[in-house]
Amino acid sequence: MPRRKDVVIPLYQFRCDRCGAFDRTYSMATVPDTVDCPECASESRRQITAPRLGHGSSTPMRLLDATARSASEPAVVTGTRPGAPRTAQTVTTNPLHRKLPRP
Ligand SMILES: [Zn+2]
Repeated sequence: MPRRKDVVIPLYQFRCDRCGAFDRTYSMATVPDTVDCPECASESRRQITAPRLGHGSSTPMRLLDATARSASEPAVVTGTRPGAPRTAQTVTTNPLHRKLPRP
């Protein structure tokens, strides 16, 4: 089954002096500085904002949501990751390490 490829379309904000702000989607390479207002067709300038990438269901938004959620609700680790070596070497066998200062 082919996976759906998420397409990120940045959303930019423009402002008409008479009608107010409205949003348009453009690729980052083709976003113009001015567009016509959808209501009065007068020239509207692009506002300086961060481009909003995609919607709540897109992969970038899910990643941003998960990152923000982990700041306040970190996931509890209950074991080692799958495939990790089972025995960890906790004591060094290098004789030079005996000369290191002890706490
Ligand atoms: Zn307008």
